[in-house]
Amino acid sequence: MSADLAFVNGVVYTVDAARSRHQAVAVEGGRITVVGSDSDVRDAIGPRTEVIDLGGRMLLPGFQDAHVHPVSGGLGMLRCDLHDLHSREDYFLAVKTYAADHPGREWILGGGWSMDVFPGGTPTKDLLDAIVPDRIVYLPNRDGHSAWVNSRALEVAGITRDTPDPADGRIERDDAGEPAGALHEGAADLVGNLAPDATPDEVYDGLLKGQEYLHSLGITGWQDAIVSPARWMDNYDPYVRAGERGDLTARVVGALWWDRERGAEQIEELVAMRERGRAGRFSPTSVKIMQDGVCETFTAAVLEPYLDGHGNPTQERGISFVDPEALKGYVTELDRLGFQVHFHALAERAVREALDAIEAARTANGPSDHRHHLAHLQVVHPDDIPRFRALDAVANAQPLWAAHEGQMDELTIPFLGEPRWRWQYPFASLVRSGATLAMGSDWSVSSPDPLQEIHVAVNRVMPPEYAYGNENHDVFLPDERLDLETSIAGFTINAAYVNHREDVTGSIEPGKFADLAVLDRDPFAFPPEDISAATVDATFVEGVKVFERAPS
Ligand SMILES: [Zn+2]
Repeated sequence: MSADLAFVNGVVYTVDAARSRHQAVAVEGGRITVVGSDSDVRDAIGPRTEVIDLGGRMLLPGFQDAHVHPVSGGLGMLRCDLHDLHSREDYFLAVKTYAADHPGREWILGGGWSMDVFPGGTPTKDLLDAIVPDRIVYLPNRDGHSAWVNSRALEVAGITRDTPDPADGRIERDDAGEPAGALHEGAADLVGNLAPDATPDEVYDGLLKGQEYLHSLGITGWQDAIVSPARWMDNYDPYVRAGERGDLTARVVGALWWDRERGAEQIEELVAMRERGRAGRFSPTSVKIMQDGVCETFTAAVLEPYLDGHGNPTQERGISFVDPEALKGYVTELDRLGFQVHFHALAERAVREALDAIEAARTANGPSDHRHHLAHLQVVHPDDIPRFRALDAVANAQPLWAAHEGQMDELTIPFLGEPRWRWQYPFASLVRSGATLAMGSDWSVSSPDPLQEIHVAVNRVMPPEYAYGNENHDVFLPDERLDLETSIAGFTINAAYVNHREDVTGSIEPGKFADLAVLDRDPFAFPPEDISAATVDATFVEGVKVFERAPS
């Protein structure tokens, strides 16, 4: 038998245990059959073999993202998408064009603007009023903690100068006390809760759009960090449908959302969803527990209080969304039932509570192979670093955040204070302690481009594309820089490990699925500060091309 597909004359970076490099790969029936030199592969080439000349480019295992939200990300791309723009003029034009192209939409939804485009971080309603005076504009920013609205939106929500700030949010006001057009946190919900839900077909299209975008970045699999049939998300059925129909070309593990308003009684439903949901390349075998919030709003759970702007302690210690004692019980039960637990654990108290819960599960149930993992890990107390390895807990890093930029320098470091701000994103410390480090993007909060993420993991400096004029090129905690090999492993074999797919994906080895990405270059041959300049030329799942860059 001859191969269906052969890659020759390239640099094959296998990410096998020896991190070995070869020249060529043959694929048959969706699986890798030969990895070796051009002459090794030549024997497998027959008349019906499609031969791809890599011409010195690099072939990698397809990237996998261990924490991503592709459905909401894709849905945002189908709406008024501001993520890739970075000026008031571009935002203006995008909203104007979208509104003109969708005359029947009563709500202009989408978002993804950056705070640093606007003076003081907050946009104003007048810019939107000038383009869309008669329909409702509601545009969350890229991290989802604030929304930009027009006058019509304020009117529909009944927000006036007399409306008090809600307990969990703030209405931005002008000098005269009038609502100015930016709503933060809970205040944004005053409008957002009135927005129509996406229809099931829209959500389905969002999933496929997100998948298409991730494939264009070399990504062939991921863990969706919130899968839920709840009204505000409802991506569970779309995933099952896409899996059944074969529309899901990526391999996806779904992390079923843990409703923190409820307790152990929901576990039965999670078991039922796991059983019903396995379809095609989709398997909802993880459970997502969000244990805390984010530092910028003082909702991430810290051990010692946050500081105020002058270096004095406040009363704020953040929020443990799940009571830590109850958490131990839930995690023990989920572990016993064969679930993986995927924690949102951002600051050091939440990290400790998550590790304590895994420890309780280990004590009660003994070791398991469920590969519980903690995502975000912005602040980790040094005492907890060795516990990842000891408890067999995977560190799930979002490396794009580990750099000096406005949000870090102005909204985080002063409020964490010494020495705690130095405990941020301790990726190299975790690796040195023997922890398994997987990586993910948290798109649509951040770019899902693994090459940008890897760039920051290696350099701890923002890629030029994301610096947006921020001139702080200081390396952020240089001891925590990773090498390129370790960073690529985080987005390939180790992310595959989290998804229980390292036996069939995550490296280029005979017998594994031909889930592959072609890079335009070998990034090891360039200086580290050029990593982000690399791009993906083509992506394959089981030897089938799911993306190819159009010739420029
Ligand atoms: Zn997330």
